[in-house]
Amino acid sequence: MDSGAPGRVVVCASGVFAAEQSLEVRASKSYVHYIILSPINAYFGSSFRPVSVFVSEEHFRAVRGGTGEAKTIANYAMSLYATELARANGYDQVLWLDAVERRYVEEAGAMSVAFVYGGKHIRTPALSGSILPSVTRDSILKLAPDLGFPVSEERIDIGELVRDVESGAVSEVFCIGTAAVIAPIGRIGFQGRSYEVNGARTPLVARRLYEGLTDIQYGRVSDPYGWALPLDVPARVSAA
Ligand SMILES: *Cc1c(COP(=O)(O)O)cnc(C)c1O
Repeated sequence: MDSGAPGRVVVCASGVFAAEQSLEVRASKSYVHYIILSPINAYFGSSFRPVSVFVSEEHFRAVRGGTGEAKTIANYAMSLYATELARANGYDQVLWLDAVERRYVEEAGAMSVAFVYGGKHIRTPALSGSILPSVTRDSILKLAPDLGFPVSEERIDIGELVRDVESGAVSEVFCIGTAAVIAPIGRIGFQGRSYEVNGARTPLVARRLYEGLTDIQYGRVSDPYGWALPLDVPARVSAA
């Protein structure tokens, strides 16, 4: 954590594992559900540094009918090898395409993704059965229009998208999830080419959404959506 700066505490990991004393391939009859809470710093390192994403055309995170729309361990396992390849190519994360037609944008790393057109209109992939229905994505869908940014959920073709990035029609790209809240994407690698998003200008919409959502999380503004719940906890909790 930054010294003295108030940190956010988020659910870093929550999960369920089978707790039956048995070695069989079938659903367990008893489970342990755990939640790990942790203070968290900026997810991708310092402040609002844009990350880069590499479009994977060979590996896929999830397929309709599989487990991709639930937060399961298998989701992460599926993403590790392609992420290593993206890093070896000089990118931070993978931009995932759908596994069936291999052309529609789904997510970025383990986050939802969105594209800003003309500094205002936000487009994000529509839930498809292989996209995780992220809580933060849902919050942005509600918050953004109230902040003056209309949002549409669509099928987004990667070829059209990189053309729109290249022409400057796309003014910002960002990913969305609990840990980072909003993280701007500055560069997209696709079919051997690198597309820089809007000449690396300050991502104003991403910043506004980040502030809008964290203002609600910290209680700096009133919460018209009923997302913030007061917790009755002791003023000081010492680590055991
Ligand atoms: C966790 C996760 C997200 C973000 O979901 P939130 O509920 O907003 O934290 C998006 N996509 C994938 C694949 C994830 O694992």
